[in-house]
Amino acid sequence: MAAEDVQGLGFLDKKIQGSSPLSLHEYAKKNNVRFFLISFVDLLGVLRSKLVPSNAIRDMEVAGAGFAGYAAHFDMTAAYPDMFAIPDPASIILLPWKDGVAWVASDLYMHGALVKQAPRQVLKAQVERAQEKGYILKTGVECEFFLLSSASDCSLSDVNDKAVKPCYEQGALMRRYDIIAEILESMENLGWRPYQADHEDANGQFEINWEYDDCLITADRHVFFKFMVKSIAEKHGFKATFMPKPFLQRTGNGAHCHASLWDASGTINLFHDNTGDLGLSKLAYEFVGGILANAKKLFLQALTAFLNPTVNSYKRIDGRTTTSGSSWAPCTISYTGNNRTHMLRIPDAGRFELRLPDGAVNPYLLQAAILACGLQGIDNHMDPGPRCDWNGHMPPEGAKKLQTLPTSLIDALQNLAASKTLKTDLGDDFVESYLKLQMERWKSYTSHLSQWEIDNTLDC
Ligand code: ADP
Ligand code: MG
Ligand code: MG
Ligand code: MG
Ligand code: MG
Repeated sequence: MAAEDVQGLGFLDKKIQGSSPLSLHEYAKKNNVRFFLISFVDLLGVLRSKLVPSNAIRDMEVAGAGFAGYAAHFDMTAAYPDMFAIPDPASIILLPWKDGVAWVASDLYMHGALVKQAPRQVLKAQVERAQEKGYILKTGVECEFFLLSSASDCSLSDVNDKAVKPCYEQGALMRRYDIIAEILESMENLGWRPYQADHEDANGQFEINWEYDDCLITADRHVFFKFMVKSIAEKHGFKATFMPKPFLQRTGNGAHCHASLWDASGTINLFHDNTGDLGLSKLAYEFVGGILANAKKLFLQALTAFLNPTVNSYKRIDGRTTTSGSSWAPCTISYTGNNRTHMLRIPDAGRFELRLPDGAVNPYLLQAAILACGLQGIDNHMDPGPRCDWNGHMPPEGAKKLQTLPTSLIDALQNLAASKTLKTDLGDDFVESYLKLQMERWKSYTSHLSQWEIDNTLDC
């Protein structure tokens, strides 16, 4: 029986997958694949998989791999029936560090219907909305990470990496050459077109950049990049972390996202306009207006609930300074030109960079939130207001007072709960499930008694 018959669904939505390559069993034969990792990301960003022998893939690629939804973060109960992960062949990636294993992103179905709160589906729904309006979002992400000694010893792996301003330091970069070069080479072989790697602004921190693509491809690669960096680091005896702020005095891990909107053919960048301010079109400014609005009080500052999804996230964007002299993270809701001290930067004609997201961001929800906000901006012709060309971390006398970002996860979650437009556009059911799980996580955090409380309250 075909999957359509079993599940009564339109099967894979080829429309937004681009050109799908071979079926998985054909791919396995061609590429000597021994196992497939059929994978998905849940609402709290956990990457989950089943390892499926290629001998069994023929049935599985049609019917899907079965999972108990309650075992992952999906706001389901243990009584729910199986959830089926149907692999998307367009997303297949051969693991560069392990022969014979292929990773593949999948779409989740239950009762023959798509699981609406599955993050990849949330993004695909936004991609489809954009397509209906004649747009394709293309994005590139910059995923910063630290290399630590090991999983059990979270100190920096390189004791000589202690410069006050370590950014771009050649010595510290080359002492981790084996790992960084292996990741770069892997990305080249995968066809991602990586173009640079560097030591970042914190001791022990690195960044590797690859070229932008359609936002669903970028999201799948973002997921895989984190998996790859962690795996290759582990192979070399280290631990990689994307935690937003693992060291209070050091610059945190951002996941900046660069974005441009293209026409339906994907060949004309609709953000590019040489006659517009900084080479951006009116459409681009409206898109930016939608993002700023959703970060601002008027729109209840709901955006950080997705882009800064952990308790720890808010230590990166609270404006505290670092030993290097700058946090390189935003603390105000503002935009600027080629200036790294505001939330949104326009580094070049035809694109903007959103500096708000951090290393804990769910790759699919990052793209979905940007797209939903941007479409709101376009639909309502939103005006982002004037640009802020000053140093956002040290505003000059008389500079306009800017709104600040939420200072804790609970504020962001409450903002999202109260927001109307973003909730409606991203899907009420999804947002409800997301909020429920995030509130449970917040409660788990507040049920923890910290040393600070003891130190500061024992003698009350
Ligand atoms: P920076 O450190 O200056 O913020 P990086 O070079 O580290 O920038 O990263 C820039 C990212 O932006 C890359 O992923 C790049 O491919 C992407 N990018 C460049 N042009 C565009 C564009 N038109 N649309 C979307 N992303 C883009
Ligand atoms: Mg079982
Ligand atoms: Mg960069
Ligand atoms: Mg960086
Ligand atoms: Mg950047």
